[in-house]
Amino acid sequence: MKRKVIIIGSGPAGYTAAIYASRAGLSPLMFAGLKHGGQLMDTGDVENFPGYRNPITGPELMEDIRLQAERFGTEISYKMIIKAKLDIYPFVLTDEDNQDWITDSVIISTGAEAKWLGIDSEKKYYGRGVSACATCDGFFFKNKKVVVIGGGDTACEEALYLSNICSKVIMLVRSDRMRASKIMYQRVINSTIDIKYNTQVIEFLGDDVLTGISTNQGNIVCDGAFIAIGHKPNTELFTNQLDIDDDGYITTMLGSTKTNIPGVFACGDVQDKIYRQAITAAGTGCMAALDVEKFLSQVKDV
Ligand code: NDP
Repeated sequence: MKRKVIIIGSGPAGYTAAIYASRAGLSPLMFAGLKHGGQLMDTGDVENFPGYRNPITGPELMEDIRLQAERFGTEISYKMIIKAKLDIYPFVLTDEDNQDWITDSVIISTGAEAKWLGIDSEKKYYGRGVSACATCDGFFFKNKKVVVIGGGDTACEEALYLSNICSKVIMLVRSDRMRASKIMYQRVINSTIDIKYNTQVIEFLGDDVLTGISTNQGNIVCDGAFIAIGHKPNTELFTNQLDIDDDGYITTMLGSTKTNIPGVFACGDVQDKIYRQAITAAGTGCMAALDVEKFLSQVKDV
């Protein structure tokens, strides 16, 4: 059966698009994938999502948003989309059972994943001192000593943010230079942040919670470690079909969620390398649903 709109991905962007699209009578079908909920499913307490005056865990927040989307009639499939044919119209998406789905519009909200160092102790201390998001978790390290791993713009931003909260911030840069833009680098230099070059993490140390890091330059005592070595947007399905920038993010037109293909819209972290917050993802999800509604009203025979 032909659908008016299919949403791929089930983070805050996808679910918000689903809420708006279902309330607009577009009967959206969402492919949530095997692991619904996106990056917030790996997050502890969320304290900065408006509307919750008490902390809520990432999984609880995503469950609330899912139920809200379903209340208005969003249909959710927990299958993966494995192929997208966007060069024909209507578009054809194929799920993991090789079933084809024909749709007049697509909202891509497949998100991004933080890159990890890939060492065992990283998993052990994740949520117990190790984090990949200073805006999300920095508050829990108020007046404490933290380390930021990475030397790009993200690492600089995270370190600068933390320097307003924590008693001490140290950046560990694996080579003898930072990759960050000049302006971000200058801001770090002008701050109280310590930079240790040629320093690579060997293991995270501690008991129940993180207490330090062993590096090739010796051990560092700290309460928190923020890994900021880049993100990987989930765009493999769309390579060679959509405009994708040098960092792998889907390019959207300024002030909208339109991609280079009319009828295909992108929202959330798959197209955002700057803000990357649940609330900004939700905001662009809302935009995507409104953009779809307008697009469908202009397409004949829908
Ligand atoms: P980048 O790829 O730019 O930087 C990654 C950093 O992490 C580099 O210093 C890299 O070191 C280091 N790194 C990578 N792997 C490891 C590892 N295994 N161990 C230790 N260190 C490692 O990623 P960003 O997320 O910082 O930025 C991505 C893009 O987003 C950039 O274009 C950036 O400008 C942009 N951005 C823009 C912002 C803004 O405009 N406000 C904010 C944040 C990002 P090495 O250099 O040795 O490879």
